[in-house]
Amino acid sequence: MKTYQDWQALRETLNLRSDAYINGQFTPAKNGATFACINPTDESLLANVASCDEADVDYAVEVAQHAFRSGVWSEMAPGQRKRILQKWADLLAQHFDELALTDTLDMGKSISEMVNIDIPDSIDCLRWSAECIDKLYGEIAPTNPQNLALISREPLGVVAIITPWNYPLMMVMWKIAPALAAGNCVILKPSEKSPLSALRIAELATQAGVPDGVFNVLPGFGHTAGKALALHHGVGTLAFTGSSRVAGMLMQYAGQSNMKRVWLEAGGKSPCIVFDDCKDIQAAAQGAAVAIFTNQGEVCIACSRLYVHNSIKDEFLKHLLDAARQYVPGDPLDPATKMGPLVDKAQFERVTEFIESAIADGATLELGGVPNYSEGQGFFAAPTIFSDASHEMEFVREEIFGPVLAMMTFETEEEAIMLANDSKYGLGASIWTADLSRAHRVSRKLESGMVWVNTWGDGDTTVPFGGVKASGNGRDKSWHALEKYTEVKNTWIRL
Ligand code: NAD
Repeated sequence: MKTYQDWQALRETLNLRSDAYINGQFTPAKNGATFACINPTDESLLANVASCDEADVDYAVEVAQHAFRSGVWSEMAPGQRKRILQKWADLLAQHFDELALTDTLDMGKSISEMVNIDIPDSIDCLRWSAECIDKLYGEIAPTNPQNLALISREPLGVVAIITPWNYPLMMVMWKIAPALAAGNCVILKPSEKSPLSALRIAELATQAGVPDGVFNVLPGFGHTAGKALALHHGVGTLAFTGSSRVAGMLMQYAGQSNMKRVWLEAGGKSPCIVFDDCKDIQAAAQGAAVAIFTNQGEVCIACSRLYVHNSIKDEFLKHLLDAARQYVPGDPLDPATKMGPLVDKAQFERVTEFIESAIADGATLELGGVPNYSEGQGFFAAPTIFSDASHEMEFVREEIFGPVLAMMTFETEEEAIMLANDSKYGLGASIWTADLSRAHRVSRKLESGMVWVNTWGDGDTTVPFGGVKASGNGRDKSWHALEKYTEVKNTWIRL
Protein backbone atom coordinates (compact mmCIF):
# COMPACT_ATOMS: atom_id res chain seq x y z
CA MET A 1 0.00 0.00 0.00
CA LYS A 2 1.33 3.43 -0.94
CA THR A 3 2.04 5.98 1.79
CA TYR A 4 0.93 9.60 1.95
CA GLN A 5 4.40 10.60 0.73
CA ASP A 6 4.15 8.20 -2.23
CA TRP A 7 0.87 9.78 -3.31
CA GLN A 8 2.29 13.28 -2.95
CA ALA A 9 5.29 12.29 -5.08
CA LEU A 10 3.01 10.82 -7.74
CA ARG A 11 1.00 14.01 -7.69
CA GLU A 12 4.07 15.96 -8.81
CA THR A 13 4.28 13.83 -11.96
CA LEU A 14 0.58 13.96 -12.82
CA ASN A 15 -0.22 15.36 -16.25
CA LEU A 16 -3.91 16.23 -16.15
CA ARG A 17 -5.79 16.46 -19.45
CA SER A 18 -8.12 19.43 -19.76
CA ASP A 19 -9.41 19.62 -23.35
CA ALA A 20 -12.48 17.90 -24.72
CA TYR A 21 -11.89 14.56 -26.46
CA ILE A 22 -13.64 14.32 -29.83
CA ASN A 23 -12.90 12.06 -32.78
CA GLY A 24 -9.86 10.52 -31.13
CA GLN A 25 -8.13 13.74 -30.19
CA PHE A 26 -8.01 16.45 -27.58
CA THR A 27 -9.54 19.71 -28.67
CA PRO A 28 -10.40 22.96 -26.88
CA ALA A 29 -14.01 24.13 -26.71
CA LYS A 30 -14.96 25.93 -29.92
CA ASN A 31 -15.60 29.16 -28.00
CA GLY A 32 -12.27 28.83 -26.18
CA ALA A 33 -13.97 28.94 -22.78
CA THR A 34 -12.71 27.01 -19.77
CA PHE A 35 -13.84 26.45 -16.21
CA ALA A 36 -11.68 26.02 -13.11
CA CYS A 37 -11.35 22.56 -11.66
CA ILE A 38 -10.63 22.98 -7.93
CA ASN A 39 -9.16 20.53 -5.43
CA PRO A 40 -11.70 20.57 -2.55
CA THR A 41 -9.04 19.62 0.01
CA ASP A 42 -7.04 22.85 -0.26
CA GLU A 43 -9.02 24.83 -2.87
CA SER A 44 -6.02 24.93 -5.23
CA LEU A 45 -6.51 25.02 -8.98
CA LEU A 46 -6.05 21.63 -10.66
CA ALA A 47 -6.79 22.59 -14.25
CA ASN A 48 -8.72 24.94 -16.47
CA VAL A 49 -10.97 22.56 -18.35
CA ALA A 50 -12.66 23.11 -21.72
CA SER A 51 -16.18 24.40 -21.20
CA CYS A 52 -18.12 22.89 -24.09
CA ASP A 53 -21.47 24.20 -25.29
CA GLU A 54 -23.98 23.67 -28.08
CA ALA A 55 -21.44 24.13 -30.89
CA ASP A 56 -19.20 21.40 -29.47
CA VAL A 57 -22.22 19.16 -28.95
CA ASP A 58 -23.25 19.61 -32.61
CA TYR A 59 -19.75 18.67 -33.72
CA ALA A 60 -19.48 15.66 -31.39
CA VAL A 61 -22.89 14.33 -32.46
CA GLU A 62 -21.91 14.65 -36.12
CA VAL A 63 -18.67 12.78 -35.45
CA ALA A 64 -20.40 10.06 -33.40
CA GLN A 65 -23.18 9.62 -35.97
CA HIS A 66 -20.63 9.28 -38.72
CA ALA A 67 -18.65 6.72 -36.72
CA PHE A 68 -21.80 4.76 -35.95
CA ARG A 69 -23.09 4.68 -39.52
CA SER A 70 -19.69 3.73 -40.88
CA GLY A 71 -20.01 0.46 -38.96
CA VAL A 72 -16.40 0.73 -37.78
CA TRP A 73 -17.58 -0.20 -34.29
CA SER A 74 -21.26 -1.15 -34.53
CA GLU A 75 -20.55 -3.78 -37.20
CA MET A 76 -17.25 -4.99 -35.82
CA ALA A 77 -17.42 -8.66 -34.82
CA PRO A 78 -18.43 -8.71 -31.13
CA GLY A 79 -15.41 -10.86 -30.31
CA GLN A 80 -13.12 -8.16 -31.72
CA ARG A 81 -14.93 -5.41 -29.78
CA LYS A 82 -14.46 -7.55 -26.72
CA ARG A 83 -10.71 -7.81 -27.26
CA ILE A 84 -10.36 -4.04 -27.68
CA LEU A 85 -12.38 -3.33 -24.54
CA GLN A 86 -10.32 -5.89 -22.62
CA LYS A 87 -7.16 -4.16 -23.79
CA TRP A 88 -8.62 -0.88 -22.59
CA ALA A 89 -9.26 -2.49 -19.19
CA ASP A 90 -5.62 -3.63 -19.14
CA LEU A 91 -4.52 -0.04 -19.77
CA LEU A 92 -6.73 1.23 -16.96
CA ALA A 93 -5.13 -1.35 -14.68
CA GLN A 94 -1.68 -0.13 -15.77
CA HIS A 95 -2.71 3.43 -14.86
CA PHE A 96 -4.47 2.35 -11.66
CA ASP A 97 -2.64 4.73 -9.29
CA GLU A 98 -2.82 7.69 -11.63
CA LEU A 99 -6.59 7.33 -12.03
CA ALA A 100 -7.13 6.85 -8.30
CA LEU A 101 -5.12 9.96 -7.54
CA THR A 102 -6.91 12.01 -10.19
CA ASP A 103 -10.36 11.38 -8.73
CA THR A 104 -9.18 11.97 -5.16
CA LEU A 105 -7.70 15.33 -6.12
CA ASP A 106 -10.73 16.21 -8.21
CA MET A 107 -13.54 15.48 -5.78
CA GLY A 108 -11.99 14.82 -2.38
CA LYS A 109 -12.85 11.18 -1.76
CA SER A 110 -10.34 9.16 0.22
CA ILE A 111 -7.54 7.50 -1.71
CA SER A 112 -8.20 4.26 0.17
CA GLU A 113 -11.76 4.17 -1.26
CA MET A 114 -10.42 4.87 -4.72
CA VAL A 115 -7.91 2.04 -4.44
CA ASN A 116 -10.25 -0.46 -2.81
CA ILE A 117 -13.55 0.33 -4.49
CA ASP A 118 -13.77 2.80 -7.38
CA ILE A 119 -10.90 1.71 -9.61
CA PRO A 120 -11.24 -2.09 -9.17
CA ASP A 121 -15.00 -1.83 -9.64
CA SER A 122 -14.62 0.31 -12.78
CA ILE A 123 -12.13 -2.08 -14.36
CA ASP A 124 -14.28 -5.06 -13.44
CA CYS A 125 -17.36 -3.45 -14.97
CA LEU A 126 -15.50 -2.85 -18.23
CA ARG A 127 -14.20 -6.43 -18.36
CA TRP A 128 -17.60 -7.89 -17.48
CA SER A 129 -19.43 -5.86 -20.15
CA ALA A 130 -16.79 -6.76 -22.72
CA GLU A 131 -17.04 -10.45 -21.83
CA CYS A 132 -20.83 -10.45 -22.27
CA ILE A 133 -20.95 -9.04 -25.72
CA ASP A 134 -20.01 -12.11 -27.75
CA LYS A 135 -22.45 -14.18 -25.72
CA LEU A 136 -25.52 -12.17 -26.63
CA TYR A 137 -27.57 -14.54 -28.80
CA GLY A 138 -30.68 -13.64 -30.78
CA GLU A 139 -33.90 -15.68 -30.97
CA ILE A 140 -35.95 -17.43 -33.63
CA ALA A 141 -39.66 -16.98 -33.04
CA PRO A 142 -41.96 -20.05 -33.10
CA THR A 143 -43.89 -18.93 -36.21
CA ASN A 144 -45.54 -21.29 -38.71
CA PRO A 145 -43.01 -23.11 -40.93
CA GLN A 146 -43.69 -20.93 -43.99
CA ASN A 147 -41.94 -18.04 -42.28
CA LEU A 148 -38.76 -17.34 -40.39
CA ALA A 149 -38.76 -14.56 -37.78
CA LEU A 150 -35.42 -13.48 -36.36
CA ILE A 151 -35.30 -11.43 -33.20
CA SER A 152 -32.00 -9.69 -32.80
CA ARG A 153 -30.52 -7.09 -30.47
CA GLU A 154 -29.14 -4.06 -32.27
CA PRO A 155 -27.07 -1.14 -30.98
CA LEU A 156 -29.03 2.08 -30.63
CA GLY A 157 -26.78 4.62 -32.35
CA VAL A 158 -25.48 7.71 -30.56
CA VAL A 159 -25.83 7.43 -26.80
CA ALA A 160 -25.32 10.56 -24.69
CA ILE A 161 -24.25 9.92 -21.13
CA ILE A 162 -24.38 12.52 -18.36
CA THR A 163 -22.78 11.68 -15.00
CA PRO A 164 -22.39 13.08 -11.48
CA TRP A 165 -19.26 13.73 -9.42
CA ASN A 166 -19.56 11.47 -6.38
CA TYR A 167 -17.90 8.38 -7.91
CA PRO A 168 -16.38 10.06 -10.98
CA LEU A 169 -14.85 7.12 -12.84
CA MET A 170 -17.18 4.45 -11.50
CA MET A 171 -20.42 6.22 -12.46
CA VAL A 172 -18.95 6.86 -15.90
CA MET A 173 -17.90 3.23 -16.36
CA TRP A 174 -21.23 1.75 -15.24
CA LYS A 175 -22.72 3.44 -18.29
CA ILE A 176 -20.05 3.67 -20.98
CA ALA A 177 -18.92 0.04 -20.63
CA PRO A 178 -22.25 -1.61 -21.54
CA ALA A 179 -23.12 1.14 -24.05
CA LEU A 180 -19.85 0.71 -25.94
CA ALA A 181 -19.83 -3.06 -25.63
CA ALA A 182 -23.24 -3.16 -27.28
CA GLY A 183 -21.80 -1.35 -30.32
CA ASN A 184 -23.04 2.20 -29.72
CA CYS A 185 -21.08 5.43 -30.12
CA VAL A 186 -20.96 7.45 -26.94
CA ILE A 187 -20.74 11.12 -26.05
CA LEU A 188 -20.02 11.50 -22.35
CA LYS A 189 -20.54 14.70 -20.41
CA PRO A 190 -18.94 14.16 -17.02
CA SER A 191 -19.81 16.41 -14.11
CA GLU A 192 -18.20 19.84 -14.22
CA LYS A 193 -17.07 19.10 -10.65
CA SER A 194 -15.03 16.01 -11.59
CA PRO A 195 -14.23 15.77 -15.32
CA LEU A 196 -10.56 14.79 -15.18
CA SER A 197 -10.47 10.98 -15.05
CA ALA A 198 -12.98 10.74 -17.91
CA LEU A 199 -10.66 12.73 -20.16
CA ARG A 200 -7.74 10.48 -19.35
CA ILE A 201 -9.57 7.23 -20.01
CA ALA A 202 -10.77 8.53 -23.39
CA GLU A 203 -7.18 8.79 -24.51
CA LEU A 204 -6.50 5.28 -23.23
CA ALA A 205 -9.51 4.02 -25.20
CA THR A 206 -7.92 5.22 -28.42
CA GLN A 207 -4.65 3.59 -27.39
CA ALA A 208 -6.53 0.32 -26.88
CA GLY A 209 -7.97 0.46 -30.39
CA VAL A 210 -11.40 2.03 -29.94
CA PRO A 211 -11.90 3.74 -33.32
CA ASP A 212 -12.03 7.53 -33.55
CA GLY A 213 -15.43 9.07 -32.91
CA VAL A 214 -16.73 6.07 -30.98
CA PHE A 215 -16.07 7.46 -27.50
CA ASN A 216 -16.09 11.23 -27.04
CA VAL A 217 -15.91 13.28 -23.86
CA LEU A 218 -17.34 16.79 -23.62
CA PRO A 219 -16.64 18.52 -20.32
CA GLY A 220 -18.95 21.43 -19.54
CA PHE A 221 -21.88 22.60 -17.49
CA GLY A 222 -25.30 21.02 -17.27
CA HIS A 223 -27.26 24.01 -18.53
CA THR A 224 -24.99 24.33 -21.60
CA ALA A 225 -23.37 21.08 -22.79
CA GLY A 226 -25.77 18.79 -20.88
CA LYS A 227 -28.92 20.50 -22.02
CA ALA A 228 -27.71 20.70 -25.63
CA LEU A 229 -27.06 16.95 -25.63
CA ALA A 230 -30.45 16.19 -24.10
CA LEU A 231 -32.23 18.32 -26.69
CA HIS A 232 -30.23 17.09 -29.68
CA HIS A 233 -32.15 15.26 -32.41
CA GLY A 234 -29.08 13.23 -33.34
CA VAL A 235 -28.91 11.60 -29.90
CA GLY A 236 -31.01 8.46 -29.80
CA THR A 237 -30.59 7.55 -26.16
CA LEU A 238 -29.72 9.53 -23.07
CA ALA A 239 -28.40 7.80 -19.96
CA PHE A 240 -28.11 9.90 -16.83
CA THR A 241 -26.95 9.60 -13.26
CA GLY A 242 -27.57 12.57 -11.01
CA SER A 243 -30.24 14.38 -9.03
CA SER A 244 -33.95 13.76 -9.40
CA ARG A 245 -34.45 17.46 -10.18
CA VAL A 246 -32.25 17.27 -13.29
CA ALA A 247 -33.64 13.81 -14.18
CA GLY A 248 -37.10 15.40 -14.45
CA MET A 249 -35.73 18.12 -16.72
CA LEU A 250 -34.17 15.52 -19.02
CA MET A 251 -37.52 13.82 -19.48
CA GLN A 252 -38.92 17.16 -20.56
CA TYR A 253 -36.03 17.78 -22.98
CA ALA A 254 -36.62 14.37 -24.53
CA GLY A 255 -40.30 15.18 -25.00
CA GLN A 256 -39.46 18.57 -26.49
CA SER A 257 -37.01 17.10 -28.99
CA ASN A 258 -37.04 13.62 -30.54
CA MET A 259 -38.52 11.45 -27.74
CA LYS A 260 -35.11 9.96 -27.20
CA ARG A 261 -35.03 7.04 -24.84
CA VAL A 262 -34.08 8.30 -21.36
CA TRP A 263 -32.52 6.14 -18.65
CA LEU A 264 -32.34 7.79 -15.23
CA GLU A 265 -30.38 6.87 -12.12
CA ALA A 266 -31.42 9.61 -9.75
CA GLY A 267 -31.39 10.66 -6.09
CA GLY A 268 -32.16 8.81 -2.89
CA LYS A 269 -33.11 9.11 0.76
CA SER A 270 -32.62 5.53 1.74
CA PRO A 271 -33.90 4.00 4.98
CA CYS A 272 -32.00 1.75 7.37
CA ILE A 273 -34.28 -0.30 9.64
CA VAL A 274 -32.88 -1.98 12.73
CA PHE A 275 -35.22 -4.51 14.35
CA ASP A 276 -35.00 -5.56 17.99
CA ASP A 277 -34.18 -9.12 16.86
CA CYS A 278 -31.00 -8.07 15.07
CA LYS A 279 -28.19 -10.43 15.93
CA ASP A 280 -25.61 -7.93 17.09
CA ILE A 281 -26.61 -4.36 17.98
CA GLN A 282 -23.05 -3.09 17.82
CA ALA A 283 -22.51 -4.55 14.34
CA ALA A 284 -25.80 -3.01 13.18
CA ALA A 285 -24.74 0.38 14.56
CA GLN A 286 -21.40 0.12 12.79
CA GLY A 287 -23.25 -0.82 9.59
CA ALA A 288 -25.54 2.19 9.96
CA ALA A 289 -22.50 4.46 10.32
CA VAL A 290 -20.88 3.00 7.18
CA ALA A 291 -24.19 3.47 5.36
CA ILE A 292 -24.22 7.23 5.94
CA PHE A 293 -20.61 8.32 6.37
CA THR A 294 -18.95 6.46 3.48
CA ASN A 295 -17.68 8.94 0.87
CA GLN A 296 -18.62 11.87 3.18
CA GLY A 297 -22.26 10.86 2.80
CA GLU A 298 -22.07 11.80 -0.88
CA VAL A 299 -23.58 8.49 -1.92
CA CYS A 300 -26.90 8.06 -3.72
CA ILE A 301 -27.74 5.00 -1.62
CA ALA A 302 -26.66 6.63 1.67
CA CYS A 303 -29.03 5.56 4.44
CA SER A 304 -29.73 9.03 5.76
CA ARG A 305 -32.96 7.89 7.49
CA LEU A 306 -32.38 5.49 10.37
CA TYR A 307 -35.28 3.70 12.10
CA VAL A 308 -34.36 1.82 15.28
CA HIS A 309 -36.74 -0.28 17.35
CA ASN A 310 -37.72 1.66 20.47
CA SER A 311 -36.56 -1.07 22.85
CA ILE A 312 -32.90 -0.96 21.69
CA LYS A 313 -32.51 2.71 20.86
CA ASP A 314 -30.26 3.74 23.81
CA GLU A 315 -27.76 0.94 23.39
CA PHE A 316 -27.83 1.36 19.61
CA LEU A 317 -27.17 5.10 19.82
CA LYS A 318 -24.18 4.56 22.08
CA HIS A 319 -22.57 2.19 19.55
CA LEU A 320 -23.56 4.45 16.64
CA LEU A 321 -21.80 7.44 18.18
CA ASP A 322 -18.69 5.33 18.82
CA ALA A 323 -18.67 4.21 15.20
CA ALA A 324 -19.30 7.71 13.84
CA ARG A 325 -16.36 9.13 15.81
CA GLN A 326 -14.06 6.92 13.72
CA TYR A 327 -14.84 9.16 10.74
CA VAL A 328 -12.51 12.09 11.28
CA PRO A 329 -12.34 14.38 8.24
CA GLY A 330 -8.78 14.68 6.98
CA ASP A 331 -6.50 14.83 3.96
CA PRO A 332 -7.89 12.23 1.55
CA LEU A 333 -4.41 11.41 0.27
CA ASP A 334 -3.55 9.94 3.66
CA PRO A 335 -4.37 6.21 3.35
CA ALA A 336 -5.65 6.25 6.95
CA THR A 337 -8.29 8.92 6.18
CA LYS A 338 -11.85 7.60 5.98
CA MET A 339 -13.49 10.93 5.22
CA GLY A 340 -12.31 13.72 2.91
CA PRO A 341 -13.82 17.12 2.19
CA LEU A 342 -17.16 17.72 0.49
CA VAL A 343 -16.85 18.26 -3.23
CA ASP A 344 -17.09 22.07 -3.29
CA LYS A 345 -18.34 25.18 -1.56
CA ALA A 346 -21.86 24.87 -2.95
CA GLN A 347 -22.18 21.35 -1.49
CA PHE A 348 -20.68 22.53 1.80
CA GLU A 349 -23.28 25.29 2.00
CA ARG A 350 -26.09 22.90 1.13
CA VAL A 351 -25.08 20.52 3.91
CA THR A 352 -24.69 23.43 6.36
CA GLU A 353 -28.18 24.71 5.57
CA PHE A 354 -29.75 21.29 6.18
CA ILE A 355 -27.97 21.00 9.55
CA GLU A 356 -29.24 24.47 10.49
CA SER A 357 -32.76 23.54 9.44
CA ALA A 358 -32.67 20.32 11.52
CA ILE A 359 -31.64 22.34 14.58
CA ALA A 360 -34.32 24.96 13.90
CA ASP A 361 -36.95 22.21 13.49
CA GLY A 362 -36.14 20.83 16.93
CA ALA A 363 -34.20 17.61 16.21
CA THR A 364 -31.72 16.69 18.97
CA LEU A 365 -28.07 17.07 17.93
CA GLU A 366 -26.13 14.02 19.16
CA LEU A 367 -22.86 14.54 17.25
CA GLY A 368 -21.25 17.08 14.92
CA GLY A 369 -23.21 20.15 13.98
CA VAL A 370 -22.75 23.19 11.76
CA PRO A 371 -19.27 22.85 10.17
CA ASN A 372 -16.70 25.65 10.23
CA TYR A 373 -15.15 27.00 7.08
CA SER A 374 -11.90 28.94 6.69
CA GLU A 375 -10.97 30.15 3.25
CA GLY A 376 -8.39 27.97 1.52
CA GLN A 377 -8.67 25.17 4.10
CA GLY A 378 -11.08 22.93 2.18
CA PHE A 379 -14.74 22.01 2.57
CA PHE A 380 -14.67 19.63 5.51
CA ALA A 381 -17.81 18.58 7.39
CA ALA A 382 -17.76 16.10 10.29
CA PRO A 383 -20.30 13.31 10.85
CA THR A 384 -23.52 14.78 12.20
CA ILE A 385 -26.23 12.76 13.93
CA PHE A 386 -29.66 13.92 15.03
CA SER A 387 -32.16 11.93 17.10
CA ASP A 388 -35.82 12.81 17.77
CA ALA A 389 -36.23 13.50 14.04
CA SER A 390 -39.60 13.26 12.30
CA HIS A 391 -41.01 13.13 8.80
CA GLU A 392 -42.29 16.70 9.08
CA MET A 393 -38.70 17.95 9.09
CA GLU A 394 -37.19 18.97 5.76
CA PHE A 395 -33.84 17.30 6.44
CA VAL A 396 -35.66 13.96 6.81
CA ARG A 397 -37.53 14.34 3.55
CA GLU A 398 -34.92 15.82 1.19
CA GLU A 399 -31.70 14.32 -0.09
CA ILE A 400 -28.80 16.15 1.60
CA PHE A 401 -25.88 14.29 0.04
CA GLY A 402 -23.61 14.84 3.02
CA PRO A 403 -22.69 13.20 6.37
CA VAL A 404 -25.98 13.95 8.14
CA LEU A 405 -28.09 11.24 9.75
CA ALA A 406 -31.66 11.44 11.07
CA MET A 407 -32.45 8.81 13.69
CA MET A 408 -36.05 7.87 14.47
CA THR A 409 -37.73 5.02 16.34
CA PHE A 410 -40.60 2.61 15.68
CA GLU A 411 -42.68 0.03 17.54
CA THR A 412 -43.97 -2.45 14.95
CA GLU A 413 -42.82 -3.97 11.66
CA GLU A 414 -45.78 -2.36 9.87
CA GLU A 415 -44.83 1.05 11.20
CA ALA A 416 -41.20 0.60 10.08
CA ILE A 417 -42.32 -0.30 6.56
CA MET A 418 -44.77 2.59 6.45
CA LEU A 419 -42.08 5.06 7.54
CA ALA A 420 -39.49 3.64 5.14
CA ASN A 421 -41.89 3.97 2.20
CA ASP A 422 -42.98 7.48 3.16
CA SER A 423 -40.53 9.12 0.73
CA LYS A 424 -40.63 10.27 -2.86
CA TYR A 425 -37.41 8.29 -3.40
CA GLY A 426 -36.94 4.53 -3.70
CA LEU A 427 -33.30 3.67 -4.32
CA GLY A 428 -31.82 1.44 -1.59
CA ALA A 429 -32.77 0.14 1.84
CA SER A 430 -30.94 -1.73 4.58
CA ILE A 431 -32.63 -4.07 7.08
CA TRP A 432 -31.02 -5.52 10.17
CA THR A 433 -32.73 -8.64 11.56
CA ALA A 434 -31.85 -12.24 12.47
CA ASP A 435 -35.30 -13.44 11.34
CA LEU A 436 -35.04 -14.65 7.72
CA SER A 437 -38.82 -14.67 7.23
CA ARG A 438 -39.02 -11.09 8.40
CA ALA A 439 -36.16 -10.11 6.07
CA HIS A 440 -38.04 -11.56 3.06
CA ARG A 441 -41.37 -10.14 4.15
CA VAL A 442 -40.06 -6.62 4.72
CA SER A 443 -37.88 -6.65 1.61
CA ARG A 444 -40.92 -7.43 -0.55
CA LYS A 445 -42.87 -4.53 0.89
CA LEU A 446 -40.16 -1.90 0.61
CA GLU A 447 -40.60 0.47 -2.33
CA SER A 448 -36.97 0.31 -3.30
CA GLY A 449 -34.81 -0.90 -6.19
CA MET A 450 -32.30 -2.57 -3.86
CA VAL A 451 -32.49 -4.06 -0.38
CA TRP A 452 -29.52 -5.13 1.74
CA VAL A 453 -30.04 -7.49 4.66
CA ASN A 454 -27.61 -7.24 7.58
CA THR A 455 -25.30 -5.17 5.42
CA TRP A 456 -25.36 -2.09 3.20
CA GLY A 457 -24.10 -1.16 -0.23
CA ASP A 458 -22.55 -4.54 -1.11
CA GLY A 459 -22.67 -5.74 -4.69
CA ASP A 460 -20.60 -6.35 -7.77
CA THR A 461 -21.02 -6.07 -11.53
CA THR A 462 -23.27 -9.12 -11.63
CA VAL A 463 -26.19 -7.41 -9.87
CA PRO A 464 -28.40 -4.58 -11.13
CA PHE A 465 -28.22 -1.15 -9.51
CA GLY A 466 -31.06 1.38 -9.65
CA GLY A 467 -34.24 2.64 -8.13
CA VAL A 468 -37.98 3.20 -8.33
CA LYS A 469 -40.18 6.28 -7.82
CA ALA A 470 -38.17 9.54 -8.05
CA SER A 471 -34.94 7.54 -7.86
CA GLY A 472 -35.27 6.74 -11.54
CA ASN A 473 -35.70 3.85 -13.95
CA GLY A 474 -33.55 1.25 -15.66
CA ARG A 475 -30.55 -0.40 -14.09
CA ASP A 476 -26.79 -0.01 -14.23
CA LYS A 477 -24.54 -3.11 -14.10
CA SER A 478 -25.41 -6.73 -14.84
CA TRP A 479 -27.12 -8.08 -17.93
CA HIS A 480 -29.92 -5.54 -17.49
CA ALA A 481 -27.55 -2.68 -18.28
CA LEU A 482 -26.65 -4.27 -21.61
CA GLU A 483 -30.33 -4.65 -22.46
CA LYS A 484 -30.88 -0.96 -22.00
CA TYR A 485 -28.29 -0.07 -24.66
CA THR A 486 -29.75 -2.36 -27.33
CA GLU A 487 -32.97 -2.40 -29.32
CA VAL A 488 -34.97 -5.51 -30.13
CA LYS A 489 -35.44 -5.96 -33.88
CA ASN A 490 -37.78 -8.41 -35.58
CA THR A 491 -36.96 -9.52 -39.12
CA TRP A 492 -39.79 -11.57 -40.71
CA ILE A 493 -38.88 -13.64 -43.76
CA ARG A 494 -41.41 -15.43 -45.97
CA LEU A 495 -39.78 -18.69 -46.99
P1 NAD B 1 -26.81 16.89 -10.77
O1 NAD B 1 -28.14 16.40 -11.16
O2 NAD B 1 -26.70 18.29 -10.29
O3 NAD B 1 -25.80 16.78 -12.00
C1 NAD B 1 -25.59 15.54 -12.66
C2 NAD B 1 -25.13 15.81 -14.07
O4 NAD B 1 -26.19 16.46 -14.77
C3 NAD B 1 -23.91 16.73 -14.17
O5 NAD B 1 -23.07 16.28 -15.20
C4 NAD B 1 -24.53 18.07 -14.53
O6 NAD B 1 -23.66 18.93 -15.25
C5 NAD B 1 -25.69 17.63 -15.41
N1 NAD B 1 -26.77 18.62 -15.52
C6 NAD B 1 -27.16 19.55 -14.62
N2 NAD B 1 -28.17 20.29 -15.13
C7 NAD B 1 -28.43 19.81 -16.36
C8 NAD B 1 -29.35 20.16 -17.39
N3 NAD B 1 -30.21 21.17 -17.26
N4 NAD B 1 -29.36 19.44 -18.53
C9 NAD B 1 -28.49 18.41 -18.70
N5 NAD B 1 -27.57 18.05 -17.78
C10 NAD B 1 -27.55 18.74 -16.62
O7 NAD B 1 -26.24 15.85 -9.71
P2 NAD B 1 -24.84 15.88 -8.99
O8 NAD B 1 -24.86 16.95 -7.94
O9 NAD B 1 -23.75 15.88 -9.99
O10 NAD B 1 -24.80 14.43 -8.30
C11 NAD B 1 -25.48 14.16 -7.13
C12 NAD B 1 -26.78 13.46 -7.41
O11 NAD B 1 -26.56 12.28 -8.16
C13 NAD B 1 -27.49 13.01 -6.14
O12 NAD B 1 -28.86 13.31 -6.26
C14 NAD B 1 -27.27 11.50 -6.13
O13 NAD B 1 -28.24 10.79 -5.42
C15 NAD B 1 -27.30 11.20 -7.59
N6 NAD B 1 -26.67 9.91 -7.86
C16 NAD B 1 -27.46 8.86 -8.20
C17 NAD B 1 -26.90 7.59 -8.43
C18 NAD B 1 -27.75 6.40 -8.81
O14 NAD B 1 -27.21 5.41 -9.25
N7 NAD B 1 -29.05 6.46 -8.66
C19 NAD B 1 -25.52 7.43 -8.33
C20 NAD B 1 -24.73 8.54 -8.00
C21 NAD B 1 -25.32 9.78 -7.77
